[in-house]
Amino acid sequence: MDNRSVLIAGGAGFLGSHLCKHYLDRGARVICVDNLSSGRMRNIEHLLDITTFRFVLHDITDPLDLGERIDFIINMAAPASPPRYQADPIATFDTIVIGSENLLKLARKAGARILQASTSEVYGDPEIIPQTEEYCGKVQTMGPRACYDESKRAAETLFYDFHHSLGVDIRVARIFNTYGPNMDPEDGRVVSNFIVQALSGRGLTVYGDGHQTRSFCYVDDMITGLTALMHSKVDIFDPVNLGNPGEFSILELAKIVLEETQSNSTIEFRDLPKDDPEFRRPDISKAQRLLDWSPEVPLREGLRQTIIYFAAELGRNAQPTE
Ligand code: NAD
Ligand code: UDP
Repeated sequence: MDNRSVLIAGGAGFLGSHLCKHYLDRGARVICVDNLSSGRMRNIEHLLDITTFRFVLHDITDPLDLGERIDFIINMAAPASPPRYQADPIATFDTIVIGSENLLKLARKAGARILQASTSEVYGDPEIIPQTEEYCGKVQTMGPRACYDESKRAAETLFYDFHHSLGVDIRVARIFNTYGPNMDPEDGRVVSNFIVQALSGRGLTVYGDGHQTRSFCYVDDMITGLTALMHSKVDIFDPVNLGNPGEFSILELAKIVLEETQSNSTIEFRDLPKDDPEFRRPDISKAQRLLDWSPEVPLREGLRQTIIYFAAELGRNAQPTE
């Protein structure tokens, strides 16, 4: 990757900051573009002194032309947690659809390959388990999750059409629930909520009866999968599921977090949010076949690493300020 130039939109966020580090470690020049709406400087501040790293404060709903060579673009820019993407649904839709189009135009002009962080949410509240890439999904145009699900679907369509009509070199990853260090403690997703609640002695908030399932992938595995897709030897212009097929109910997750944190917190049941998907598990046979990729980190091991990270974050936030 020496001297190759990688633009990472959303590079100050959870996954984006790991990608910045991954590429810097391999000798690439990294341009991190972010408006810091859900990302944090804290995730990238240790990279700012590296001469091959550059941070650009920019909202991707505005066109972007940095006037320099770009070989690869990775579009991670979008609020990913339900409370955050639902806080301003129109801004979410615009970021995902208009932002993607702006980056696709930049990729076309620069002759760069571009990877889209799509999502398992394109399957909505799925009727089949596990979800294969061929499954079209059961998705609502209305409702609290629509601004995210439908815009990610529309963004995928833009990617395929920029490829077919204009020859842009695309990759599309459908990412399933991923967790790990650099998540924002205030983010609102289930893994960060449960660990922060357990570490601070508060009740773990299980929505509904907790029988709904998710499949949780540790961040290191996801970064390996995303970069394997971006640099695959064969061209892959169709979507590829990336995630860990290990499926857990939310109640199981709560109990595992309590065990791993050795916390005395209780479990508190809250109302299930509207349109909350009941099941989610990726069929990753396509990624296994084309990328020779499978996740390797079991849930408990990944949670242990994540607990160490959140414990340090909470300790840091508890420090008295001068
Ligand atoms: P995150 O919220 O931590 O990161 C998103 C980043 O994008 C943040 O740094 C934010 O400030 C930035 N951003 C948002 N809107 C922007 C805009 N208009 N202009 C510029 N920057 C903007 O979330 P994450 O978990 O790192 O997710 C990254 C990507 O992966 C998202 O596109 C998300 O939809 C996708 N994804 C994540 C998961 C997951 O479980 N983490 C699952 C499926 C898909
Ligand atoms: N959830 C929960 N308690 C929380 C946060 C989330 O029970 O404090 C549930 C949520 O209702 C969903 C699952 O955990 O069923 C995963 O939620 P998350 O927001 O992490 O991601 P989603 O997959 O729903 O986008």
